[in-house]
Amino acid sequence: MSKRIMMVDDSRLVKVQLEEALKGTEYEIVYHSKSGEEAVEQYPNINPDLVTMDIIMGGMDGLDAAEIILKSDPNARIVMVTSLAYEDTIERAKAIGVRGFVDKPFNREQLLKAFAEALA
Ligand SMILES: [Mg+2]
Repeated sequence: MSKRIMMVDDSRLVKVQLEEALKGTEYEIVYHSKSGEEAVEQYPNINPDLVTMDIIMGGMDGLDAAEIILKSDPNARIVMVTSLAYEDTIERAKAIGVRGFVDKPFNREQLLKAFAEALA
């Protein structure tokens, strides 16, 4: 059975890239949220197996959105997707309960490894 992903990213291009990277895998993007606010609102409705979370978005950023989601569902599996991961960003994300990081642009191998670890 496929694993349901809620993708949170304000870029449509990144959605296309993630879809491409996940082609032929067990992962399926079932919902694309374009903002942190939308992600927080839709998470309980979508109830995904995994969330990929952009950090920099207009409005609420990905760290704040991840924190709110994890407060309501401590078992949420969230992987941050980022082009720049500063040490304090990584530290805060880990403190919140985020399960992993993947770099943009996507490396398929790194992506699948991070997803598997987040779901383990
Ligand atoms: Mg962004």
